[in-house]
Amino acid sequence: MNTLQKLIGALLLIIVSNANAQDIVQTHQYPKDFFQYPLDLPPTTAGTFGELRSNHFHSGLDFKTNQRTGYPVHAVYDGYVSRLRVQFGGFGSAVYITHPNGYTSVYGHLEKLAPRLAKIVRDYQYQHQSFEVDIAVQPLQLPVCKGEVFAWSGNAGASAGPHLHFELRDAITQETINPQLFGLTINDKIPPTIGAIYVYHLNGNPFSEKTTKDYYRVAGSNGSYHLINTPIINFSGEIGFGITANDVNNTSANRNGVYSIQLKVDGISVYTFAVERFAFDQTHAINAHIDYPAFIATGHEIQKSFILPGNKITVYPQSVNRGFINFNDNGVHELTYVVKDVAGNTSILKFKVKSTPTAQPLDIEKNTGTLFKYDQKNEFSNSHVKLIIQPGNLYDNLNFTYATLPRRPGGYSMIYHIHNKYTPIHDSYELWIKPDSTIGPLINKAVITNTAGVSEGGVYDNGFINATCHSFGDFYVRIDTVGPYIQPLNIAEGKTMHAFKKIALKIGDNLSGIKSYNGKIDGKWILMEWDYKTKVLSYTFDESIKPGKHIFTLVVIDNKNNLSQFTSNFYR
Ligand SMILES: [Zn+2]
Repeated sequence: MNTLQKLIGALLLIIVSNANAQDIVQTHQYPKDFFQYPLDLPPTTAGTFGELRSNHFHSGLDFKTNQRTGYPVHAVYDGYVSRLRVQFGGFGSAVYITHPNGYTSVYGHLEKLAPRLAKIVRDYQYQHQSFEVDIAVQPLQLPVCKGEVFAWSGNAGASAGPHLHFELRDAITQETINPQLFGLTINDKIPPTIGAIYVYHLNGNPFSEKTTKDYYRVAGSNGSYHLINTPIINFSGEIGFGITANDVNNTSANRNGVYSIQLKVDGISVYTFAVERFAFDQTHAINAHIDYPAFIATGHEIQKSFILPGNKITVYPQSVNRGFINFNDNGVHELTYVVKDVAGNTSILKFKVKSTPTAQPLDIEKNTGTLFKYDQKNEFSNSHVKLIIQPGNLYDNLNFTYATLPRRPGGYSMIYHIHNKYTPIHDSYELWIKPDSTIGPLINKAVITNTAGVSEGGVYDNGFINATCHSFGDFYVRIDTVGPYIQPLNIAEGKTMHAFKKIALKIGDNLSGIKSYNGKIDGKWILMEWDYKTKVLSYTFDESIKPGKHIFTLVVIDNKNNLSQFTSNFYR
């Protein structure tokens, strides 16, 4: 490192004091005297902001609700409801409140909305004949006061148990910001736990599943950690580090994410990670932040302390050479990991490294495939397969590998090995596969699937099947000619449904997935909810269904336009 780099590294950090009078890393200041907690319960966490989740950094603070639903949810400050959203998965039912101080609060997995909000959602659902809705509410339509109850907590959408998902966002950019930086703190006097560290031997090569790494066990407690049995780490060439760490607080036994990880070399910070704020379109960069090949192979979440060149998420307020380390001397250097939770509790791990300068050139990997550049458009094609990766979808240069594999019964093409599952894609890429000529008129039923049976969809395009894929892997063409299944759970022909609150059925599809469903009673559209967790489709009877005989019909269509229908008379 030269002097300028050291200076830049030191200057980019703003260290501010938080409510616990301990220092944490922040790039912005946030007001602490506006917002109240959204629940009346003592604040306890099921999940922290920025913690590592599958394919995303957690975008909010999850408040526990005693494993129950139905707790009143309060507006955290004056404002107006700006958005009402219902999804099968995601936040389920969610309310967005925009505040005059420049922030938006978001409340997810809700069970029930206050009547004036619920009416807007229900009217919109019937008007658009859709359970899933995303409603932009006019500023003067639904004002709320600080403390007002506008909803009740639930477990809707992609939620693993009852809790309130809560976010504070920049109202203009919609970047999500750590709520605990606004004074909504969680009682925490316990420093983070450090599990292990890793040394990655990079030597100028792109990071991949082939990167060799060494593992060092760590021992310690109460904020002070050391390496077991390894006084000095010897290496040569360019390296990067990785660490496993988590945090508990005084309110629950849950293991949550840490707030910041800083790596210092001889007292100079070369890498800082801090979950202060980020944009939603960058959240998949979690797969560039962690050792993704290790995560896919073992499920372990190692947080790398070097920033891949194509990783653009704003959780790295400072680094020198993006955390890649290369000593040119023969000396012993002292490295320090400083790991903090958002309350400022700190754990320190110190260790020594000794580098040996290498006389011979770096051990550059031999290219066995096609070199893809992370910051360019990449294309690959032959007479059977085409693919296009737009810039921004790779985090590092890639030695792309391609092969053909034996066919499978039922397939309408060979299997194509499109690199491998250990390299993540930020968003997507376009893949074309030419189907066998024997596919004939079934071409309109063709989809591209991976060998695990996951359909990526498919449209016919000039002799090829085209799909937008979200991961690399082994792909081939299959056909879907089978309609979705419909399995009634409580309704049957001529049945008296007087004692039932709902009509319930299970629906699903064999391959391409469900595109739409439509339920009707006596020819009129009814609002049917599809539950993400149980896959149960249900209609809750309302006063519009009078006593007497009725006819229920349900039509379900899959993504290849195969249609299934269920009809039943019933008595109310
Ligand atoms: Zn959450």
